[in-house]
Amino acid sequence: MTFSIHGLAVARGVAIGRAVLVASSRVDVAHYFIEPEQVPAEIERLRRARAAVVEELQKLQKDMPKDAPHELTALLDVHLMLLEDTELAAGVRQWIEDRYYNAEWAVTSQLEVIARQFDEMEDPYLRERIADMEQVAERVLFCLKGSDSPIIQTRRATRPQQELQLDDTMDVPLVLVAHDLSPADMLQFKQSVFAGFVTDVGGKTSHTAIVARSLDIPAVVGARTASQLIRQDDWIIIDGDAGVVIVDPSPIVLAEYGFKQRQGDLERERLSRLKHTPAVTLDGERIELLSNIEMPEDTDAVVQVGSVGVGLFRSEFLFMGRQGHLPDEDEQYAAYRRAVEGMNGMPVTIRTVDVGADKPLDEARHDAAHLNPALGLRAIRWSLADPSMFLTQLRAILRAAAFGKVNLLVPMLAHGSEIRQTLALLDQARQELDRRAVAYGAVKLGAMIEVPAAALSVRMFLRYFDFLSIGTNDLIQYTLAIDRADESVAHLYDPLHPAVLRLVSDTISECRRQGKSVSVCGEMAGDVTMTRLLLGLGLRSFSMHPSQILSVKQQVLRADTVKLAAWAQRVLDSDEPAAVLAEQV
Ligand code: PEP
Ligand code: MG
Repeated sequence: MTFSIHGLAVARGVAIGRAVLVASSRVDVAHYFIEPEQVPAEIERLRRARAAVVEELQKLQKDMPKDAPHELTALLDVHLMLLEDTELAAGVRQWIEDRYYNAEWAVTSQLEVIARQFDEMEDPYLRERIADMEQVAERVLFCLKGSDSPIIQTRRATRPQQELQLDDTMDVPLVLVAHDLSPADMLQFKQSVFAGFVTDVGGKTSHTAIVARSLDIPAVVGARTASQLIRQDDWIIIDGDAGVVIVDPSPIVLAEYGFKQRQGDLERERLSRLKHTPAVTLDGERIELLSNIEMPEDTDAVVQVGSVGVGLFRSEFLFMGRQGHLPDEDEQYAAYRRAVEGMNGMPVTIRTVDVGADKPLDEARHDAAHLNPALGLRAIRWSLADPSMFLTQLRAILRAAAFGKVNLLVPMLAHGSEIRQTLALLDQARQELDRRAVAYGAVKLGAMIEVPAAALSVRMFLRYFDFLSIGTNDLIQYTLAIDRADESVAHLYDPLHPAVLRLVSDTISECRRQGKSVSVCGEMAGDVTMTRLLLGLGLRSFSMHPSQILSVKQQVLRADTVKLAAWAQRVLDSDEPAAVLAEQV
């Protein structure tokens, strides 16, 4: 039966494929694809885990006291019987053999298939037997946890799938469906070729959504119950433009979206012709289109798309998901240097680590006890609370600056004292390198304007910094008191709120007045519906995901900043900026 689920559109385009559900089990397990040659070893791993559970249950049975309640022995019998269940065993094997799922993922996938069958049973007693099945599966998963597993990797299963309804011979695209994905998970999926993804939670500018956008695949977040409604292997369509997920589409709907998908491909091809066109407006203003990256390797895409530098390297992605072992100076230096060299002389703006809020270092350290993590020890606050970690990062960045143009950007500053502490630590980092006689380069120093307090103290900031970069994602979050990762308040997250526009506009104006450079590196910079407004407000430097550069360039090429300036003032002064924004200029 066809039905649709509505969420928030975060990455454009249409994806059509089979659903791959992750973490649908109550037990959190690893999900990755194995190589075809690893199939026998994976099945053997599964067999050993199952044998271990059988042994454990038999031992329990043997050691059971004579006066133990009859129900207990009966329960163990049932569990042993279920372990022999051929549907469970054969099903699990099939996920491994046909889909190359790792054993844990295969167990949870098959458990889910069986749970659906149980759900449909009339008899409530039988229906409740799923709990036993779950317990057995959890025991197996527990045993698997202790066994060696191959290196985690994500790779697309290339073998033709069984039971295909559409085309048995095609290489089926896979679409990821999850309740939530941490930014670190997303980074892992970056190596894979999922055609799209859907999550239940997340706001439009949550970090999960941002990483999704960098994957340049259609995505919908905040789809609430998607991971419960969509079943493993369902055919789904993701309409990344409308924020809609269509489950089990009819042939007519499929054909329509197939057409839309092809149109999207054609549009991309057309845009790719703008790669080498300079970003200059109709009235001759040169606009700097920079890129946001998460990893040094992302510079390949930056160069390919014709972007003229990195405006934001979110260095925290080097720090995440490392189970407490933070990268040392040499590892960081090597990563920053790779990014700098990858840009062939173009500037790279490295932001110092911004962990906290929706970017936990790793799940274990994610402290849910902090009720307002976005207002807590995040970004520069975290760095200043651990000066030795911060100094390590500063030294690594300074060393990488010997190999190209590096700008050092500091996130979430609000107080003069934080600025002065940061500058003192930067001096100290230089002195330490001097003492060690290690070479380093000059950096331009910038601050992110992402707290209203900072936007209202731009003059103070400009006394210390060479440039500013407006982080609109956080500036909107903190101005409007909207958690950017919370889909339940996503409708209030409004880049066009007059207060937000005023803060952005005043920051740009003051920088221009003082001849200092200013850019926007939040998601607003890559949103084509905002390009004209930002140009009209005087912005000449935008930083966004490489995948958005060409669409924004197209807007730039069609713009006349003189005409836009007067119109932008009207947007700014309006109670309903969205209405003025919609006018043709
Ligand atoms: C921002 O807040 O706009 C920004 C670019 O930083 P991040 O999204 O990493 O918080
Ligand atoms: Mg930010």
